[in-house]
Amino acid sequence: MNVEEMIAPHLRDMQPYTPIVPFDVLTKRLGVTRAQIVKLDANENPYGPSPRALQALAGADVLHIYPDPDQTTLREAISGFIGVPIEHILCGAGVDEVIDLIGRAFIQPGDAVIDLPPTFGMYKFEADIVNATYVTVPRRADFSVDVEAIKQVVAHQPSGSRPKLLFVANPNNPDGCMLADRDLDELLDLPLVVVLDEAYIDFSAYPSRAGWVRERGNLIVLRTFSKLAGLAGVRVGYGVFPQNVIQHLWKIKQPYTPNVAGSIAAIAALSDPEYLQEVVRRIVSERERMGELLSELGWLHVYPSQANFLLCRVRDRDARQLKLGLEQHGILVRYFDRDGLRDCIRISVGRPEETDRLLATLRELEPVKE
Ligand SMILES: *Cc1c(COP(=O)(O)O)cnc(C)c1O
Repeated sequence: MNVEEMIAPHLRDMQPYTPIVPFDVLTKRLGVTRAQIVKLDANENPYGPSPRALQALAGADVLHIYPDPDQTTLREAISGFIGVPIEHILCGAGVDEVIDLIGRAFIQPGDAVIDLPPTFGMYKFEADIVNATYVTVPRRADFSVDVEAIKQVVAHQPSGSRPKLLFVANPNNPDGCMLADRDLDELLDLPLVVVLDEAYIDFSAYPSRAGWVRERGNLIVLRTFSKLAGLAGVRVGYGVFPQNVIQHLWKIKQPYTPNVAGSIAAIAALSDPEYLQEVVRRIVSERERMGELLSELGWLHVYPSQANFLLCRVRDRDARQLKLGLEQHGILVRYFDRDGLRDCIRISVGRPEETDRLLATLRELEPVKE
């Protein structure tokens, strides 16, 4: 008997998700200390959480008790922050868990997930896990969403394959562009559930559309503490759902996520809006400064971004080699071995001194002119 053959066939053949390389593995590989590494590869918040979150964690006296499965205190804090009633909010161990709940709640064999690559890899990963038919509508060259092409796909899917979920990252990862409200409106008119992933919305000049779930019955909005609040390591994210949908997600959700530590940190982070504002201000201003400096090099095309990262198309040289060259200097950026992105690198916005080190190294790595 070969037990491996008993693994569900769609999972046996599935490609694993490529996560980032952990710190300790990298420091060992490069022979450097943590402090010597400039980590600009995962869009983490370089300033970390509010001191209030750290204090709250240090003083936590309930770590031996299971978390509240209703997440009441956390959801109340989020409700106050986003201005949407608590009944619409469900939290998970990161937005990643909420994406998984959405996939499991909606998809049955034959259902299709529409994805708009290049974008966040988790949507395809989830489609693979739940054995959805995976349909792509590539973004245009400027990464904008091709609404007409989505309409065509919805109108012409073969019978037996029903498009149900459409994932839109807004701002999009890896480039940082926004979906226009007019386009969102058109997407919401389609017979689909539109999952609007606002992981980076706080860094943009545009408002969140979380409030729209109250009027639009087919909209789900995702938000996270990972990027805005500097809490990627404790895993707290949430979805804002139409009320008749959210009850079904509660039924299938594991009861004890986010964990107590994550919940305490997230609540404390929201109690310090001045800190959040100040961190956003610094990151946005550094994004603009870094964009100008990178453009001035003359061999990087920097895409406009409303998020905490910049996508750069690399001219006259190999993007993967550039990523590896930076890594040798302890500077980590993201390279994607994916169609449409093989000549690109994505650089998260760090502290000003990290930008300066990045730029100095890029100048050092400049090709010798003949
Ligand atoms: C980072 C990221 C997330 C992940 O959020 P978590 O809450 O850390 O799971 C979700 N969506 C996008 C587009 C991201 O880039």
